[in-house]
Parts: sequence; C-alpha cells; structure tokens
Amino acid sequence: MDPLQSCLQYLKGVGPRRAADLQRVGLSTIEDLLYRFPIRYEDRAGFQTIASLKPGVAASIAGEVVSCGVRPTRRPRFKIFEMLVRDRTGSLRAIWFNQPFLQDVFRAHQRIILFGRLELTPHGLQLQNPQYEILRGDEDESEDEETVHTGRIVPVYEKTGQLTTKMQRTLVFQALQQLPDEVFDPLPAPVRARERLIDRRPALELVHFPPADASIDDLNRFRSPAHRRLIFEEFFLFQLGIVLRRRRADTERKPRPVVVTDATRDAVRCVLPFRLTGDQKTVVRQIVEDMKRPQPMNRLLQGDVGSGKTIVALMAALVAMENGLQVAFMAPTEILAEQHFINIRRLMEASRFRLTLLTGATPAKKRREIAAELASGSTHMVIGTHALVQEGVSFRELGLAIIDEQHRFGVLQRATLRQKGLHPDVLVMTATPIPRTLALTTYGDLDVSVMREMPPGRQPISTAAKPESRRDDVYRFVRQQLEAGRQAYIVYPLVEESAKVDLKAATEMADHLAQDVFPEFRVALLHGRLKQDVKDRVMGAFVRGEYQVLVSTTVIEVGVDVPNATVMVIEHAERFGLSQLHQLRGRVGRGAHKSYCLLLYQAPLSEQGRERLKALTDTTDGFEIAERDLALRGPGDFFGTRQSGMPTLRVGDLLRDHGLMEEARREAVAALDDPALAVSLGALVNTTWEQRFGLVGVG
Ligand code: ADP
Ligand code: MG
Repeated sequence: MDPLQSCLQYLKGVGPRRAADLQRVGLSTIEDLLYRFPIRYEDRAGFQTIASLKPGVAASIAGEVVSCGVRPTRRPRFKIFEMLVRDRTGSLRAIWFNQPFLQDVFRAHQRIILFGRLELTPHGLQLQNPQYEILRGDEDESEDEETVHTGRIVPVYEKTGQLTTKMQRTLVFQALQQLPDEVFDPLPAPVRARERLIDRRPALELVHFPPADASIDDLNRFRSPAHRRLIFEEFFLFQLGIVLRRRRADTERKPRPVVVTDATRDAVRCVLPFRLTGDQKTVVRQIVEDMKRPQPMNRLLQGDVGSGKTIVALMAALVAMENGLQVAFMAPTEILAEQHFINIRRLMEASRFRLTLLTGATPAKKRREIAAELASGSTHMVIGTHALVQEGVSFRELGLAIIDEQHRFGVLQRATLRQKGLHPDVLVMTATPIPRTLALTTYGDLDVSVMREMPPGRQPISTAAKPESRRDDVYRFVRQQLEAGRQAYIVYPLVEESAKVDLKAATEMADHLAQDVFPEFRVALLHGRLKQDVKDRVMGAFVRGEYQVLVSTTVIEVGVDVPNATVMVIEHAERFGLSQLHQLRGRVGRGAHKSYCLLLYQAPLSEQGRERLKALTDTTDGFEIAERDLALRGPGDFFGTRQSGMPTLRVGDLLRDHGLMEEARREAVAALDDPALAVSLGALVNTTWEQRFGLVGVG
C-alpha cells in the first residue's frame, strides 16, 4: 500500500481521539497532512537578542515569560493582555489587544517565541500583537523538540480547529521520519527531467523543513524548488484529466458533419444585416471548420459585451439548418431568450426556417406542441432557457447547441446533452472574458475563440464614479440625455440576504423618480419578482421607447440590447463585483450616440471598493477588467460557486502559479502522447481524478 495513504491514526503520538480531531479539519491520511503546506516560513536559525532590537523592524525572539496578565483599560470592554519576556540580554514588553483568552495560554517560566514588529510607544518599546509559539510549557516535552521548532527555517501553518501550528509541525516531522525513502512519484521521469523538477520524496521533506541555505524569500513566495515541484504535480494531474476528457470527447461522433457549398454561403450571407468585423469573420470561419469535422465541436467564444456574438451564433445556426440539422439556442434568463428570439426572428424573416421560443413561461399546451414539432423536425431552431435541454424535449436531429452568456452552467449543460446520448456541436458564448489561466482550467477541454474587436462606429463609454452627495448632478445629467431623446437605466443591487429591503428601496426609488425627479418622463420598474408577462411587457415597452427610464434590479445584467439607451446609472456601485459592473455598463454604448456610465457610491469606500471603481473608470477593455477582477477577488470568487467547474486545489493557486498551469498543460499533452506512459497515467486519472479535484460528473 502507498505509505502516503496510511491513516494519521497510525502515526506515533496520534491516537484515535487525536485522529478524529484531525479528520474534522480534513486531514485523514499522511498525504493530506503533507500536502497542507506552511502558510509561511520563519527564519529561526538565529534569534535576535532583546538588547539588539530596533523599533520598526520585524523581530523574532526566544525567551522566557517573566510575568503576564490581563490589564483593564479605561475603555469598558477593551482589554489588554500584557507580558514581560526576557532573554539573557534583557527584557521586553509584549501586548495583545482584546485577546483576554491568552491568560489561559501563557504562564510564567514558559519558553516562548515571539515574532512581530517592535513599536516605539509612549510606554516604551514593545511588541504589539506578535505571533507566538510556546516551545516548552510545564509539561514534560523532550529537549530535542527545539530542533524541530527552532534553530532552523521553520514552517508556520494555519491554525485550524484544535490543530495549532506547533502541533502540525510536530506531526509533519513525525510523518516524514516514518515515510520510506522511496515513494511513488506520479510525475513520469521524462517530465521531471524536462521541467527540471526534484523528486517527490525530497520535495515533501524540503517544503516543510527547508535546508539552512534556502532563500526565505523564495519559500514565502511559494517559489522554492520543492514548491515548484509539488504545485506542478497537482496541476499536471489536473490537466491529465482535462486532456483525457477532451480526447474522449473527440472519439464521439456527431449525427452528421456539415457540408458547406457556395449555396450555403449565399444563403447565410443574405441574412447578414451588416458587414462582419474582422474578428467576427475569423470566428465564424473557426466555427464552421469545427462543424465540418466528424467530432463534435466544443468551442468557447469569448467576446466582450457588445462585440456582436449573437450574429456569429446565427451564422453557425444557419449553416447547421442549411444542412438539415436542428439548432438549440440557450440563454440564461427568459428576458434574454426572448430578446434573442425577437432579434433572430427579424433577421430570419426571409428565410424558410421555422423558429420557436420555449421557456419556463411557455404554457403546457404550447410546450407540447413545440416538443412535437421539434421531435418531427418541422421546427428547425428553438430558442429558450436552459430548461429546454432538460425537460423532456427531444429533437429529430440536433446538430448545434449554442449556450449564451452563462459560464456557470455551460459545463453542466454539455454534460446533460451527452447524457441524452446527443453529440451535437456545442458553442458556449461568454461575455465575461475569462483570464487565460482560468480558461485553461474551467474550460480546459474547450477550444477557445476570442473577439476583441468592437463593431464599427462605437464610441467609448465615459465612466465616472460619484459619491451620494453628488446625486443631484447625476439626475441633472440624466435629464439632459432624456431631453435629447435618449433613454436611461438606473440599476439597484439585489443582494440575496436582504432581497426584500433592496426591492423596497428600488420600488420606492422608482416612485420617487417618476413623481419628483422626472415627472414629465415615463419611468418603469423591472425586478425579478414580477410575473413573467409583466416583465415582458415592461421590457418590450422600454425597447420600443415607450419608457424613458428603466429602474431595475440586476435582471438586466446580461444581454439586453437597446441602442437608444445611453445612460447607465448604478446605485450602490460599491456593492457590485467588477465583472458585474462591466456587464451592466455594456448595456449602453450600443448605438450611434455617445454613452455614459455613472457609478453612485456610498462613501467611504473600502480599499477593494475603491480599486473596483477605479478599474472601471480606467478602462473599458473587458479583458483587462477580468484580469483585475481576478486579482482583486481571487479565483474562488471569480465564478462565485463550486458548480462553476473550478477544481479544488490543495497546493496550487491559479493566480500565483498561472505560469505553471500552462507548463503542466503542455506536459500533460506530451505525456499522454507517449505510448509508454499513456496507459498508466490514464489509470491514475481514472482512480483519483474526480475525487481529488471535486469535479464529479462534469464530463
Ligand atoms: P454581444 O456580444 O454582447 O452579445 P450583440 O450580439 O448583442 O453583442 O451585438 C451588439 C450590437 O452590435 C447589436 O445591436 C448588433 O446588431 C450590433 N452588431 C454586431 N455585429 C455588428 C457589425 N459587424 N456591424 C455593426 N453592428 C454590429
Ligand atoms: Mg449577447
């Protein structure tokens, strides 16, 4: 048996009780323990002496507690825990604010380590809120413990539950001592050689107990040779699964590859209302090439809001229909599905193909009719919400599935299609540009097309952030635009926990705007709680220009297209995520008129809030915004949920280690191309991949 899979319970000093504690924080096996890396490293090779400390400088000292206790202050409920600590050169005060529980942690005569910055205060030099570790309490611990916890570069772990950094260090030390000199290395030797990676066994040792000459900087940046090796290992295993999934998909055969003749080209061209941009042409070509191959297309089209993805999708749809195949076009919301339906029906007016709309709002009787028409093939294209692939709808010959604007469910929908035994071409479209690292990860099994170019004649959207106190200026500006014949959106955040409160705010605001601020204009309110037909009526009237102002919660976030709307006012802009703000802004700037985005915020802004609003006023490039969003929020939050197809990573970090992910991808492809490796690596993926990366059943 793999010694790394051995239970922690069998580790020296760990009984069933301790093992249960560890299990509770997610540590069951030796491997779990060893792949929980230190969060940082401290150089304790030499401690500073108390006499040598200088104010303002980080200090690490070892000493003995002289006395300690909680000191009340004049402010009620504000307590200070104070300690006097000494070494052979002198003594020093350390204080912690509002952590009275420390009186149960420290006692006089303990040997301790303190790590923190020395501050010069009115009370003299002192350490404030230092990190601490107790080396030896009154309990009988052996002297040689100090060689694990001091006198070297020591690992510092995140404290979880009952597990302190010191306990974990001791356990890791034990585990490494018991671990055989040879362990199974999932990285094939040629990969290790090419990437100049050290072996697994020494890497596990060195990542926890670095050699004396290691660079503490490299360690703390997770860039030591041991880190590189182990992070690469994780990414490599992950990419093996992704690449295999892709290869498996390539063994599928779709109902019928398309054929493109001059007649097809003419038929498609005559639907076009305008000339395609260069990027649109390139992407249409890529898509059609995929459609001609016997394997199903698996393509992601990334294009910023307003870059014109819909027409590209329609071109692909027409090619499929000209070949006698059916098309399903899925949008994330009913409003969007309807808008696509209205636009596409207009464009296809002259064509012989039959188009239908199917959403959750479609009455049951109508739904049955549509289902029958799709099954018989008399309807060629269906536009709807994702419900349409899930609810008993079958096709005569589904050739192309287009999934719009919804990165969150794209993966699952593809899976649903496959489960139905369908292998159509799949085109996933997203308006949230996905930073390259994440694309390699969440959409690692898709080919990617990118449209950066905007249709001609667009003027850049001017964006400004204004505090609440400038609200009147904002209204004045909106009025000017309305008087010039334009329309405006005013958007409210709708946070789930306080949905009711926000809704009330939006409703009251709509009334206030209609009665007091813009009495001579028509103001409408749109929110998610409205009945479908009401929503449709409101949206339709706004599209036709019957309303001038649309007050809305974020239901308009994706996709709607009203070229005459030139102002987007976002209330409480500080509450929105960056990508969301960018999507909202993309609702304007769609016509010939100059457009504006005004971000109203509640001062004072948090650091993050300020960064977000600044990013938005700095640039309108969705790709740059996505990168900044990722940097601000971290990959876990970028997509919001686990369902998003983000893997659970133990040691790698998509942001910090993005370069390694790309290398790992290359090596995974190379290794699977090597017949000497492919079989054993395939077996490895089959036994461990889904469990390991938490991506069950997305394939
Ligand atoms: P998105 O990529 O956000 O889905 P849309 O497909 O809704 O963008 O297109 C945005 C607007 O740009 C639409 O009004 C569309 O008709 C228009 N458009 C798209 N491509 C072109 C083009 N090549 N030339 C002129 N207008 C275009
Ligand atoms: Mg769109």
